[in-house]
Amino acid sequence: MEKLVVATKNKGKIAEIKKVLQTMPFEVLSMGDIGITVDIVEDGKTFEENSLKKAVEICSICKTIVIADDSGIEVDYLDGAPGIYSARFGGPEATDGDRNEKLLHMLKEVPFEKRTARFVCAIAVAFPDGRSFVVRDNCEGFVDFKCKGDNGFGYDPLFYVREYDKTMAELSMDIKNKISHRAKALEKMADKIKDYL
Ligand code: IMP
Repeated sequence: MEKLVVATKNKGKIAEIKKVLQTMPFEVLSMGDIGITVDIVEDGKTFEENSLKKAVEICSICKTIVIADDSGIEVDYLDGAPGIYSARFGGPEATDGDRNEKLLHMLKEVPFEKRTARFVCAIAVAFPDGRSFVVRDNCEGFVDFKCKGDNGFGYDPLFYVREYDKTMAELSMDIKNKISHRAKALEKMADKIKDYL
């Protein structure tokens, strides 16, 4: 079976990717499984650039198919910030809670209809023969007025999904895994990778 490496240290992402590829003839491995510890500098200007850079650089090291992702939240009132800087929003020492508090503070006087936001996920696939592709998908919502719910991670407690009248952190994993930016991008990736085999 052909080896496929997932360029992340996040166990949740590896599990999600394994699930969408389960019917395909790949042996899905993490970077840890093949002893790669390198950190790729995310200095691209878009989610697509960052995911592609990670996939291509790890692929050049391990010479197998590599899948990498980059994700974050874009808030329209903040002209798309924090965007590609979502993980670093509030500085290197900030926790998820600090980042959510910062976002709430920046939107303090902003009414609900102007609090539109989206989670974005780009997924890149790089092949040892030099081919590559990137897919992207979004999940639309609003920045709520306070954090609610305990599921998920990151900005989930603040991200209100109108369709369910709940924040992402109040939704079950099953529902999040159907509607999320990452789930939808993974589905696109799983569909497209077939054309490359
Ligand atoms: P990365 O793609 O792992 O670098 O994630 C970027 C940052 O975006 C994370 O640290 C989170 O703060 C945020 N983020 C990405 N996906 C999600 C999600 O599904 N829920 C909540 N926050 C997310």
